[in-house]
Amino acid sequence: MPIQNRGPFEPPTLRTIIEPFRIKSVEPVRMTTADERERLLREASFNPFLLHASQVLIDLLTDSGASAMSSEQWAGIMRGDESYAGSESFWRLRDTMRDLTGFDNVLPTHQGRASERILFELVGGPGKVVPNNAHFDTTRANIEHSGAKAVNLPIPEAASPTSRHPFKGNMDVPALERLIEREGRENIPLVMMTLTNNTSGGQPVSLGNLREVKAVCDRHRLPLFIDACRFAENAWFIKAREPGMHAMSVRQVTRAMFDLADGATISAKKDGLVNIGGLLLIRDAALFQRACNLLILTEGFVTYGGLAGRDLEAMAQGYREVMEEDYLSYRIRSVEYLGEKLIASGLRIIEPPGGHAIYIDAGHFCPHIPRAEFPGQAVVCGLYRIAGIRACEIGSVMAGPRPASPPALELVRLALPRRAYTQSHYDYVAEACAELFARRHSLRGMRIVEAPDVLRHFTARFAEI
Ligand SMILES: *Cc1c(COP(=O)(O)O)cnc(C)c1O
Repeated sequence: MPIQNRGPFEPPTLRTIIEPFRIKSVEPVRMTTADERERLLREASFNPFLLHASQVLIDLLTDSGASAMSSEQWAGIMRGDESYAGSESFWRLRDTMRDLTGFDNVLPTHQGRASERILFELVGGPGKVVPNNAHFDTTRANIEHSGAKAVNLPIPEAASPTSRHPFKGNMDVPALERLIEREGRENIPLVMMTLTNNTSGGQPVSLGNLREVKAVCDRHRLPLFIDACRFAENAWFIKAREPGMHAMSVRQVTRAMFDLADGATISAKKDGLVNIGGLLLIRDAALFQRACNLLILTEGFVTYGGLAGRDLEAMAQGYREVMEEDYLSYRIRSVEYLGEKLIASGLRIIEPPGGHAIYIDAGHFCPHIPRAEFPGQAVVCGLYRIAGIRACEIGSVMAGPRPASPPALELVRLALPRRAYTQSHYDYVAEACAELFARRHSLRGMRIVEAPDVLRHFTARFAEI
């Protein structure tokens, strides 16, 4: 019954943003002692990627594939149609994505990099150049694997950790014009935009910037593709920060972003709220057909793309849930909350906090460790030692031995898995970071003992200097 007259008892508007779910199934996390962690870290050659997950208390290595699924997603797992061809789960996923993005041509893949591999096998190759606001590491690796060159064109503000530009993920549009002029449009198969921009801090791209990039693409008849792993978080930022966008729903903003694109590569392990899965969206019918042929060659038939029917079902449900604005406001606020606590403790982070992670400026954290000795890796090891927290270096280790352009900053990423941890977990993380910062002068530089050439951060072995 609606309350007609609440009078003096009308409750105040509460401002606390809560986790918009309750917990029905729990997974214990295991405490370790400082001595145990010291031994385990050494056994893992100072690379937390090589730890067993059970040895980690709070795992902020990545937000990828680490989401907690909802009861409706688990129900979808039971409903999954495992037919080889034409699975009902595929059609539900196709309809969900068509509804969100306006794309008719939807291919499932096992994860984002499979979509990238297929796309760049088709359009990449020696002599080609692919510009992006900033390539994610697997995107860059797949472009380079095809023989093409991957170029980052971030706005200058992206290099300044404390510049509070609201859309620090934007592309430098004049730099794109110059690149097209210099390289020749015939050598550029497509222009890419990463939403949100993972490499430069989980920072959003404005709809205005996306429109400007699209206008340049149109002028040169170049396709625009988006790396849309975190399109929902990006849409939330546009709604919250971009002048004139507040009245739009996140769904409308999402549609406006995809309407500008000719295609998208997507890892569903992020905003898809699932543990595995990806998508490749392509508007052009001929290119889509070629992508279907490649998908069948290496991933599976076009209606499952290397996934089980139940995975498609969970993904379809995840993409419906991620559009809920209560979820997105809690999500973005959680990241901001952790960021505010770190700033209050004196750490320098990339500001303003992005959508899925806090990026600690490890160069500022460890001024006594030169870049060649990987200050980010030193902070990562310190966080594990002090509190069993697993973080990820995003700096000279990840950039590899011969980066096309050296990383602007030495960063440590604390990625927040979706719906997996609560506020007290983040209070603990903030306390550990503050404690390590207070003892930062005891951190030592690192050297690489052994590493592959490509994507070395996953498997490199380190020693302390
Ligand atoms: C995770 C990610 C990818 C790759 O997706 P995977 O599912 O890990 O293969 C590509 N681009 C961006 C921006 C990402 O965050």
